[in-house]
Parts: sequence; structure tokens; C-alpha cells
Amino acid sequence: MSENNKHHIENDPKYKGLLVNEGVEKPEAVNNDSIQRFLKKKRKLLSVDEYVNGILDGDITLLSKAVTLVESSKSEHQQIAQQVIQKCLPHSGKSVRIGITGVPGVGKSTFIEALGKYLTNKGEKLAVLAIDPSSERTKGSILGDKTRMEELASDSNAYIRPSPSAGSLGGVARKTREIIILCEAAGYNHIFIETVGVGQSETAVHSMTDFFLLLMLAGAGDELQGIKRGIMEMADLITINKADGNNLEKAEMAKVQYKNAIHLFPSKDSGWAANVLTCSAYKKTGIDAIWDQIEKYREQTIDNGYFFRKRNEQSTYWMYETIEENLKRNFYDHPEIKEKLKVLENYVLTDQMSSFIAATELLNTYAKLK
Ligand code: GDP
Repeated sequence: MSENNKHHIENDPKYKGLLVNEGVEKPEAVNNDSIQRFLKKKRKLLSVDEYVNGILDGDITLLSKAVTLVESSKSEHQQIAQQVIQKCLPHSGKSVRIGITGVPGVGKSTFIEALGKYLTNKGEKLAVLAIDPSSERTKGSILGDKTRMEELASDSNAYIRPSPSAGSLGGVARKTREIIILCEAAGYNHIFIETVGVGQSETAVHSMTDFFLLLMLAGAGDELQGIKRGIMEMADLITINKADGNNLEKAEMAKVQYKNAIHLFPSKDSGWAANVLTCSAYKKTGIDAIWDQIEKYREQTIDNGYFFRKRNEQSTYWMYETIEENLKRNFYDHPEIKEKLKVLENYVLTDQMSSFIAATELLNTYAKLK
């Protein structure tokens, strides 16, 4: 024991078994180089193959990390993400992709939990993604609050991922589509994509799913539910939720009304006749009949060739979408265009130049810049 240590009163022989050592000198600033290097190492990106192998092994941590790269707007992240997606592509496509929409409060998360548990109990694997148009504004997400799907969130056969929060709806949708590829490569053979049924996001969801399910409530007019006719026409199945307790009879009546209404809609390219069912997501009733419809749809559209034709159309659609998005972004982000745009916009506003000539001049300028 050093001379110094003897001075600690705890080192008196009466405190048997206790030895207090001399303190060590406090290191210099905590944010010194070595700590920075350590943190950087922790955040270090893995190689493309490490992500891909992890995903193909069904490693949920590596899947999540790769999804984070897909969502990132940093170009170094995007570069890796795109290579990971490319390598996962041959292992994707084997799932059923189901879009689920309905106004807030209709019971989407309760329903996803009920249908999700129905599938995972059968040993199936499920990924739940979301396209949330409001996330940019609120910085939150409709799926951000995982307590909404408590059972699924703790189910090892389910992977829940909130909506990517940054960017335009088109950007968010494209990222979601890329995340689908990663999830499928990781072995998730059912993909649910949730969206709030009030805006354009349904069209985006429709352009990346095989089956579109619209949840409705009984006793509320369509206008009240904010559901546009176009969205009802898109649906492959309409389900009246909350068919339980006092609401049961009303739900059955609504079912008949909706059946009559959709009967008048134009027939679909898929050859599938949309149906109307009732369920209680809360009591978990009517869930098997809904799944039965999805299975039937899959069988029928695979048989008639529509299933894969639609997927091919979706792939080309997203190729053109991406081209358009990038062209627009490159154009508007170019410093010279930004500068000139301000000037010409002013000319247009003051009637010194026609919109057409201003646009042509800007496009010509851009063409010469490249
Ligand atoms: P979301 O906003 O569409 O995701 O709706 P939620 O799943 O959060 O449900 C909204 C409310 O409706 C919650 O209080 C749920 O408990 C309730 N709810 C959902 N499904 C049912 C159902 O089938 N029956 C009844 N009675 N209530 C339900």
C-alpha cells in the first residue's frame, strides 16, 4: 500500500477487505482524438457484402442498418445502399405485398396487428412498412409509436419499420419500394404497407403493392371518412371494421350498401371482382375470411398473368419516376439555374416574357451547362 493510500480512512485495518486506491489523474478533454476515432469506428459502414450476407441470413440488425442507409440522403450511404439493393434484387419478389389504407381511427394498426398475428402464428414472416405523408411535417410517423402494435413489435417473425421521414412523397415512396426489396431478401414473405387514406399516398402505395385493402367504418358517409371514390375503385377488398358489439348490425348494413356501390364501378384489369367484408380487428373476428380473399386474389391473378404483369409495370413506373425526380432535382439545384430562374420568373410575373419562352431559355441554358 502506498504512503498516499494509508491516508484514506477506509483503509484503516478495521474496515476489513476494503481497499481504496489512490485516484488516477483525470484524462485531458473527453472529446480528444482517440475518442473521436473510437466513435467513428463504431459508426463505420460495413461492406456491401456484409450487409447483403446479413440480410440473406435474416439478420434483423443488419437489415435495419441497411434500411437506414436506404433512407439516408448522404451520397456515401446511397452508394452502398444502391449496391446492396442491386445484390438483393434476385432474392426479392417472393412475397405478397399488401397496401392497407383508411382514415385515422378506422383501426389500421389494430387490424395490422390482428392480421399480422394471424400470419405469424402460422409461422409466416411479415414486414410492416408505412408511407406517411405527414411525417415530414410532424417529424413523427404513423408507425413511430410502436405501442400501437405491441404484440407484433415483440414478435420475432415480424419486422416493423416506420415511414422514412425525409423528402417528397415520391422520394419517400421510392425508398419504401427499395426497403420492400431488402425485406423480401431477408425472408419476409408478406409485406404490409400502411398509409392514411386521405391523400395521394394511396396512389403511391397502389404502385408498389399487389393487393389494396381499404378499411371503412359503418355509419359514416364516404365524405365524412374522407375517402375519395377513386380510392374505393382502387380497392381489391373493402372491409368494414369495428363489426362488434352494438355496431354489428350497422356494419352488416354498410356491407350491403358498399357491395351495391362497388357493383357499379368499372371492371378491373386484373379480372378480379372486389368484395366487401366485415371484421372486428379488436375481437379478431373475420380475419381469416379476409386472408382467404387475398389468397384467392393471388391465385386468380397469377393464373391470368396479371400478377407479374402488374409488377413489371410497377418496376418500369419506378424507373421513370426516379429519372424524373433526379432530372428535376439536378435542374433546380444547379446554382446557375437557380440564379437565372429568379430573374426569368420576375420577367414572367411582369409580363416581359412569356412562360413558354422563359422555360425554353432555362432548359437551353441547362442543356449547355452539361
Ligand atoms: P388507426 O388510426 O387507423 O391506426 O386506428 P387504431 O388501430 O389506432 O384504432 C383506433 C381506435 O379504434 C382504438 O381505440 C382501437 O382500440 C379502436 N378499434 C380498432 N379496431 C376496432 C374494432 O374492431 N372494434 C372496436 N370496437 N374498436 C376498434
